[in-house]
Amino acid sequence: MPTIFHEEMVRLKEEAERRGLKLSFKRLGEVNGVEIYRWIIDGWCPFFDRKSRKCTIHEKKPLACKMFPLVLDVKTGNVFLSENCLWVRQNGPRPLDDFPAEKKALMKVVVRLRLVP
Ligand code: SF4
Repeated sequence: MPTIFHEEMVRLKEEAERRGLKLSFKRLGEVNGVEIYRWIIDGWCPFFDRKSRKCTIHEKKPLACKMFPLVLDVKTGNVFLSENCLWVRQNGPRPLDDFPAEKKALMKVVVRLRLVP
């Protein structure tokens, strides 16, 4: 269940409407004045193509998806690797630099949430 920004929620809703899907979100609050939401996914993500095993909104997916398996704890600023990721479970802990694209997405989130001075 990714944590997303308001404009990402709007974009996901528009995409869902185009496809006749219904999505669910919950407002989590604010971090440094930036509203964040929980995208509530019950079971498979409706944008996941189970046949090809690919995300069908790759270019439009939220930063939380782009940075996965990196996960940011917005309260502490700590970053960890999610064990929900099969690759992580199979390959074990790795340094952050082994995830360049995900790290780039993470940095966008960090800057957006003003977690750096
Ligand atoms: S990466 Fe794509 S398929 Fe996976 S949760 Fe995000 S939007 Fe859904």
